[in-house]
Amino acid sequence: MLTITDLEKVYPTGDKALQGVSMEVDGNEVVSIIGPSGAGKSTLIKCVNRLTEPTSGSIVLDGEELTTLSKKELRKTRRDMGMIFQEFNLIERLTVMENVLSGRLGYMGSWDAFRRNFDDEDVQNAYEILDRVGVGGMENKRVDELSGGQRQRVGIARAILQRPKILLVDEPTSALDPETSFEVMEMLTEIAREEDIPVLINIHEVELALDYTDRIVGLTDGEVVFNGTPAELDENA
Ligand code: ADP
Ligand code: ADP
Repeated sequence: MLTITDLEKVYPTGDKALQGVSMEVDGNEVVSIIGPSGAGKSTLIKCVNRLTEPTSGSIVLDGEELTTLSKKELRKTRRDMGMIFQEFNLIERLTVMENVLSGRLGYMGSWDAFRRNFDDEDVQNAYEILDRVGVGGMENKRVDELSGGQRQRVGIARAILQRPKILLVDEPTSALDPETSFEVMEMLTEIAREEDIPVLINIHEVELALDYTDRIVGLTDGEVVFNGTPAELDENA
């Protein structure tokens, strides 16, 4: 479970990206963050994985305060956070299998270096998860041979294989066409629920938030202006 309390982020430029943000992600809940461009959605996700440093406030994941972790502790804790990005963040020149395994083990600079660090069970699990996300049989293809939708599926497989405590997802579909976006969102939320992994997802298309998430947090100018179910959002609109 993730609990965010009174989170504030002021960038060095003076931009107040978040102020007084409090919210939770429970159990295997899929929570989406929506709001206009510049509302602070991406900053919120980046504060949780500490790609950006929060200015003040608290972020607790399964009892662990994230805002005060040292660099070393952070590296360990990030293994517990599955991250899925808009631009996929895969290593283009490596194969699908290599990319998927790199999430679980951390990329070690060369395939030979990390080949020694996983066992048959890791590989077996990777085959299974690739099948489930719909790219079975593509294990040995290089990522730069794949379509956008296939790349995002590989990104999701990599994150799931980490067995994370939470999935942090930043605009997973904004580089995809509408039909592929629906397929990817459906697959992502289905697997997360099956695996009991809570999801915090920053999503551009309100339609996808309404269709596939349990709760929606609306941000405007860095503040929470809505926190409720898709049905409640529909009533308000
Ligand atoms: P969203 O994801 O909702 O579009 P962002 O979190 O990207 O919003 O941005 C929130 C605010 O913070 C905006 O005013 C944006 O200009 C500002 N901002 C984002 N990243 C930076 C940065 N690295 N440096 C300075 N200001 C930033
Ligand atoms: P800031 O704290 O102002 O965002 P950073 O140096 O932390 O500055 O990051 C600059 C940009 O690079 C950020 O917008 C962040 O999204 C991106 N970034 C940094 N590290 C990573 C990473 N490991 N994976 C993906 N994006 C990253």
